[in-house]
Order: sequence, then structure tokens, then C-alpha cells
Amino acid sequence: MTSRVYNFSAGPAVLPEAVLEQAASEMLDWRGCGMSVMEMSHRGKEFVSIAAEAEQDLRDLLGVPQHYKVLFLQGGATGQFSGIPMNLLRGGERADYINTGSWSKKAIKEATKYCQVNVAWGADEETPMHIGAPSEWRLDPQASYAHYTPNETISGVEFHWVPDTGGVPLVADMSSTILSRPIDVSRYGLIYAGAQKNIGPAGLTIVIVRDDLIGGALPQTPSVWDYKLQADADSMLNTPPTFSWYLAGLVFKWLKHQGGLEAMAELNKRKADKLYAVIDNNPFYSNPVDPACRSWMNVPFVLADGRLSETFLSEAEAAGLTTLKGHRSVGGMRASLYNAMPEAGVDRLIEFMQDFARRQG
Ligand SMILES: *Cc1c(COP(=O)(O)O)cnc(C)c1O
Repeated sequence: MTSRVYNFSAGPAVLPEAVLEQAASEMLDWRGCGMSVMEMSHRGKEFVSIAAEAEQDLRDLLGVPQHYKVLFLQGGATGQFSGIPMNLLRGGERADYINTGSWSKKAIKEATKYCQVNVAWGADEETPMHIGAPSEWRLDPQASYAHYTPNETISGVEFHWVPDTGGVPLVADMSSTILSRPIDVSRYGLIYAGAQKNIGPAGLTIVIVRDDLIGGALPQTPSVWDYKLQADADSMLNTPPTFSWYLAGLVFKWLKHQGGLEAMAELNKRKADKLYAVIDNNPFYSNPVDPACRSWMNVPFVLADGRLSETFLSEAEAAGLTTLKGHRSVGGMRASLYNAMPEAGVDRLIEFMQDFARRQG
């Protein structure tokens, strides 16, 4: 008998228990082939079928149109911070970036190695707690692409709308929000995400890219970062992260079984709404983000009396509510409520918060 905690980690993060159980049951012998997925050749028929099925399930979930490639890569979202300019500049020299927080800033910093970056909004914001209206954005119609971060994992600032960049391809770092709700993939030129938040284990990075944007990588682009070469090789230009890919596939099946992304969106909104309601209605807690752009996935909050934070965290831990410490750059608390966090976990956290406020307030 295992005793599982409610794990509110921002990433690597909680995975669906049913997925872990299935992986455990298949660990030594995957469907009668006598070996673990970890031990299989990535070129063998077993793994090739696992890989293809995972891609198809992801395409089904997100409604990925046929003229988009789905790549299963390595190097994390951070690797894509350079992969994107290397592939998408296509002879251009300028790219637009929207700065909504820490991850935007990191993407911007990396992109400046390859091109002239125009920060179309947020250049003066230290840590934005809101998102500027599109009328404030100074987009460059000649930019090769426009990059934004739909969900800032650290500050908990999330877009609940899709920017309109005219004919400039829109690029989105969806690391901490992909699969949390339905999206219209056709609005994007490229979507990317590290797996360890809402997809599966660390080590896998998903890139969904429109066909016409690939094939023009900078000549010095390492082959493993060249989207065209990877697409032509079915993401197997070299050995892919096979076990992470397999586990992501199990998560995709699980999501389908839950009713797909409409069902997840409804559940995710409900989980987030009830936690924000407690934070807003109890003077003991607060969250500084503009209510119009509060994240469904990452809910940061602070105590009115910051001296109680350590006590809060250690009592929460003792109650089976773990990894609630805020990011080292902002302090306080952060509850990450990814798809795999059951609503019962949020209910337990809320109960704990109300009880803690009563006892300490
Ligand atoms: C976690 C995260 C990253 C970094 O992902 P790695 O896989 O560690 O490179 C980038 N962007 C966002 C929005 C994230 O949440």
C-alpha cells in the first residue's frame, strides 16, 4: 500500500495515478514482448507503434490540422528558446516578443543571440501582474515571428485569449498550460512545451509547427534542432527520449478517457476558481495578479503575515500537501493545479488554508 501525497509542484509535477499504475504494471514486460519500454530499440516495431499512437492521440486531443508537424524532441522549452530563432527567422533579422514575466524574459535573452528582438509589450515591466491590452502592443509587421508565453508559471499570469498578430506567425511557449483547455492550433505558427508540467515526465519537449515555417533553418543549426530534419525523420534523427514519449502517450489516453480537453477545461477552471475565491475572501491570504489574467495552472499566494510562511509550509507538508513553496524568485506559496491534480487535492488544500487562517489569524 503506497501513500501518495497531493503534490503541488510546478514541475516536474504530479502525474495521473492511473497512468503510473499502468506504467508500473507494464514495466517489466510491455504487452507480452518480454521487455520494458526502456529497453526497446526506438526503431523496433513495438516502440514505433507506441510513438505513432502517442502522436495520433495528441493530434486528436488538440485537433492538430494535417499541415502541422508534431515533433517529440529533447532539450526542454529552454532548448526551444534558441531552436525557434534558428528555425523561424528564415532570412529575417527581427522577431517580436511579449514580456509577461520570467519565462518570457529568458526566451528574449536567448533570442537576442540570433536576432534583433523587439519587445512589443512589457519591456519596462519588472514583474508584470497584468497583460497589456493589444492596443498597447507595438508589433512589427516585418517580424519573422511573434513570441509570447500563454502561462507564466512563476507569477501565475495567464492569457485567456489568443493574440492577433496579423500575418506574423504566432509562437507560444505553452509549457505550463498545454492540454489544460481546447485551443485552436490554426491560430499559431508554432506551439512548444516541455513535458514535465502537463504532459509527462521530464526529458521530452513537444513542438507543433506549421509546415510552411520549416526548412529554412540557419545553416549552422545543429541537426537535432532543425525542425525539418526532425520532421523528415519522425523525430528520430537520433535516439528520442523513449520512456518519456511512452508515458506521455499514456497521459494522452488518460485525457481522452477523462472526456478530452473540454472536460479538462471545465475541471481546471473550477479548481482554480475555488482556490482564488478562498484567497480573495480571506484577508489572511492574497494574490497580486489582475483577476482577468490569473492562471488556472499556477496559483501563487502570500500570507498577510509573511513570518508564518515557514509554519504554513511545514504544517501543509505534515497534512500531505507538498511542494507549496513559491518560486525562489518571488517567495510565498504557489499551488500548481495541473490536469493530474485531482479536485479532491484542491479541496484538501482549501480546507487546510481555512483551518490554518482560523488558528493563526
Ligand atoms: C518550466 C518552463 C520552462 C523551462 O522548461 P525546461 O523544460 O526546464 O527547459 C519554460 N517556459 C515555461 C513557461 C515553463 O513553465
